[in-house]
Amino acid sequence: MARKNRDPYGDLNRDAEEEAPPPVPCWLCGRPTGSTIVWHHPVPKSRGGRDVVPMHPICQQTLIANFTNSELQRHGMDVEGLLLNPAVRKFVDWVANKDPDFTAPQAKKQR
Ligand SMILES: [Zn+2]
Repeated sequence: MARKNRDPYGDLNRDAEEEAPPPVPCWLCGRPTGSTIVWHHPVPKSRGGRDVVPMHPICQQTLIANFTNSELQRHGMDVEGLLLNPAVRKFVDWVANKDPDFTAPQAKKQR
């Protein structure tokens, strides 16, 4: 893709489109992703999962905190099933109005 010379008097709208690709929605909460996107394996890699979905770091933390690998594997790509979990449902409702780059200092799991 050939980049045109920057022309300060050029078409600003077109320039803005190039600079800001549309944000991808988070798999869990549906909000646009922020500056940090984690590519989450709905089926854990250790269970043979290959597909990845974009998520907020905080949303992935929530899944990891609330589900075991076996449960994640069972739900797979079925995010609706994950949202039936009361704790996850509560989190998604709570995070709905937060900034996309919002991260809470939750109790972090040691990796
Ligand atoms: Zn999210």
